[in-house]
Amino acid sequence: MKEIFLLKLGEIVLKGANKRQFESKLRQNVRRRMKPYGNFDVYLMQSTVYVEPMDEMCDVDGAWDACRSIFGVVSLCRCRPCEKNLDAIFDAVENYLGDDLDCAKSFKVESKRSDKRFPMTSIQLSQEIGGRLAEAHPTVEVDVRHPDYTVYVEIRDLAAYVHGPAEPGAGGLPTGVGGRAMCLLSGGIDSPVAAYMIAKRGVEIECVHFFSYPYTSQLAKDKVIELARLVTRYCGKMTLNIVSFTEIQEAIRDNCPEEYFTLIMRRFMMEISQRIAKHDGCGALITGENLGQVASQTMEAMTVTGAVVDIPIFMPLVGMDKEEIVTIARKIGTLDTSILPYEDCCTVFTPKHPKTKPTLGQLLHAEEKLDREALITRALENIERVAVKYHDEPGI
Ligand code: ATP
Ligand code: MG
Repeated sequence: MKEIFLLKLGEIVLKGANKRQFESKLRQNVRRRMKPYGNFDVYLMQSTVYVEPMDEMCDVDGAWDACRSIFGVVSLCRCRPCEKNLDAIFDAVENYLGDDLDCAKSFKVESKRSDKRFPMTSIQLSQEIGGRLAEAHPTVEVDVRHPDYTVYVEIRDLAAYVHGPAEPGAGGLPTGVGGRAMCLLSGGIDSPVAAYMIAKRGVEIECVHFFSYPYTSQLAKDKVIELARLVTRYCGKMTLNIVSFTEIQEAIRDNCPEEYFTLIMRRFMMEISQRIAKHDGCGALITGENLGQVASQTMEAMTVTGAVVDIPIFMPLVGMDKEEIVTIARKIGTLDTSILPYEDCCTVFTPKHPKTKPTLGQLLHAEEKLDREALITRALENIERVAVKYHDEPGI
């Protein structure tokens, strides 16, 4: 008898008029995400997405793992479907969860009956199945208050489903319901986490990376492509725009006062990112900035770097401690790649005494000798666009 997954919807259950659009987006996302793992039927009923393997060739464990990273799912469980009668339900629990039950000290049965035609109440059903299980497993106590293990029985429209405790899902909103944003992706710890956090709000992600060959190496670039790939596990495929920053950085080095190097460079990054964003239909920029972490992350510095941009700049990490950021990076699997020791273009030509309380007037003055527009135009002409996806199979 096969196993199927139930993915329970999170916040989207609450979204009134948008609910249908959100649900159909989620179903579409789940369908797409299941493709590499074989032939799965994905359907939505009663605020639950059902994922059902259709043949023996399906990679059920791979599919399960992928379901854990789908935004819009608040919790998920693997379960065994069976007929809606007591004997079938008891057999399903015995066969499917019997071993887990034997490992527990105590248990209870919790039932939910969304098919009201089923002739017993939830409580009666739990008592009946609980009683039979207690007889079959005399060493495991019944404890309805603090059970070591809970057996769940759900009577739904199509069938009854039995399962053990559900796992937390990825949360958030389904990818694609919240528009598109452009993340400035460095090789560091912070920006992949920032991309993940905004993606979690249902936003499709595109990235831009600035690199300064030969000051930064091919390895540093490969690392960023890998970071983007790791983030696609959550946000789906994306385009990574790689912008050569060498000419701009050299122009800054040769023409501007050293204490403003980083700030001027960041103003170029922001402006170029915004232009690509607007061209590609992104409504906001995302950065991994964090208040006070480095000299360019003071309010004054953010004011002068933000001044070149007129769309919102999302900084989801702005108030977090490094440890909190690292915890998320570890959870989403980007940390090990982020800490590989390759240089970032931000660390090339770093001023000895960076300006921490700049004013816009000072910046405009410091940039006077640069032909900003010409530099930006040339950078935009030479973008390398890399299509990044989690799997190699086409269409995923
Ligand atoms: P991260 O860990 O993300 O590199 P950081 O703490 O090193 O961040 P900064 O170097 O000041 O901080 O960069 C702040 C933000 O600017 C980054 O989070 C990222 O969004 C963006 N950024 C920095 N360098 C680059 C780059 N080479 N390409 C694209 N974006 C960048
Ligand atoms: Mg960095």
